[in-house]
Amino acid sequence: MADSKKAKQNHEEENPFEEMIKRLDVAAKIMKLDSEVYEIMKKPSKLVYCSMPVKMDNGKTKVFEGFRVVHSTALGPSKGGVRYSTYVNENEVMALAAWMTFKCAVADIPYGGAKGGITCDPSTMSKGELERLTRAYTNAMVDVFGVDKDIPAPDMNTGPQEMAWIVDEYSKLKGGFTPGVVTGKPIHLGGSLGRSEATGRGVMTATMEAMAKMGLNPAKCRAAVQGFGNVGSITAKHYEAKGLKIVAISDHTAAFYNPDGIDIDKAIKYRNSNKGVIKGFKGGKLISNEELLTLNVDVLAPCAMENQITDENAAKIKAKLIVEGANGPTTDEADHILSKKGTVVIPDILANGGGVTVSYFEWGQNRSGLYMTEDEVNTKADHWMKQAFHNVWNTSVKHKTTMRIAAYIYALGKIELGIKSRGHY
Ligand code: NAD
Repeated sequence: MADSKKAKQNHEEENPFEEMIKRLDVAAKIMKLDSEVYEIMKKPSKLVYCSMPVKMDNGKTKVFEGFRVVHSTALGPSKGGVRYSTYVNENEVMALAAWMTFKCAVADIPYGGAKGGITCDPSTMSKGELERLTRAYTNAMVDVFGVDKDIPAPDMNTGPQEMAWIVDEYSKLKGGFTPGVVTGKPIHLGGSLGRSEATGRGVMTATMEAMAKMGLNPAKCRAAVQGFGNVGSITAKHYEAKGLKIVAISDHTAAFYNPDGIDIDKAIKYRNSNKGVIKGFKGGKLISNEELLTLNVDVLAPCAMENQITDENAAKIKAKLIVEGANGPTTDEADHILSKKGTVVIPDILANGGGVTVSYFEWGQNRSGLYMTEDEVNTKADHWMKQAFHNVWNTSVKHKTTMRIAAYIYALGKIELGIKSRGHY
């Protein structure tokens, strides 16, 4: 079987939605969550599938599959990114949507959770093909999306350009310019200053709060960062600025180790001039992604994708602190191994909430027409992240549980209030 086929099959066999349910079960039991609320949380509230015929540059038509899952609107309109990937499937999007529900509640943002995905390989598509596909997806989801209904944003392999196409197509279909229907837009179309760095910056803030609690001095610590896209590279840049030595970085093409510290600026420049990948970078020794995860470091930031830390490698992990920039990088079995070892894991639904926080600021700015400076955005976002961190930390102390389960408990407590006070049929 070809490697890419095998990887796709492996990805299909993984079920991140089940991983989400396992954590939900533990949190629900500890906090004695209302059984009706538990049943509601276990299922997405809406799952929309679309098939999109798109004319390719060679004149042939290719049919793509797309999804949008709305997990919950209990606390407000649903919010969540759109992922373009060969591997994206229904289970993955369902899990990602549920994590958005919990993430927004952890960050105290009045949103529910959603996620979208298109099964495609954007690295093999032209800009024109990507534009036609994005417009076809917007057309298919026009009645799902809405400023007060469901608000997409970037995720893996999507960014400001895709968001601009969504705004344009949505605005044309509905009549009237509607920038608030997506976040993560280019600045000139109503995007927020600070949004492109917000997730990585938030990962850094969560890391600094955790290190302070653990008595770790950033200037004396070494870090490894998996994934060198938006989240990974910005996290690494902010870690470096705080004095951490980044000894390893990776992406899906290569991983590099340098005990003297990798120059992150150089790595970013190299990636930007090398079709977005770090393969061939000269700033470190070539290692495998597996080696990166088990290096002798203090902090490990998985910022790539799901199911990277599993029962197969968790026991070998040496980092004292794991901060999840990616969504779902650690399986439930790995969590148990890490918690027994005393490794502190700052979970995705807390650690990478900086992105959705600034998305919420962007949406507010679009609605009010009043725009903030980058400093204002960063100061406000840092404050929200610190607050969320301490809310979860205190919950973990109160219930004597891990930061992950505490984050679920904190989020579920708020969602329970929302569901109970709104009621249902
Ligand atoms: P991106 O597409 O910009 O970057 C993804 C990076 O991961 C790339 O460098 C890619 O090469 C690398 N990668 C993919 N597979 C890998 C593998 N097996 N091993 C090592 N590296 C691998 O995406 P992103 O926006 O940085 O998102 C990364 C993660 O963060 C995803 O889980 C996403 O859901 C999550 N996230 C993103 C945001 C955001 O604002 N962009 C917010 C919250 C969470």
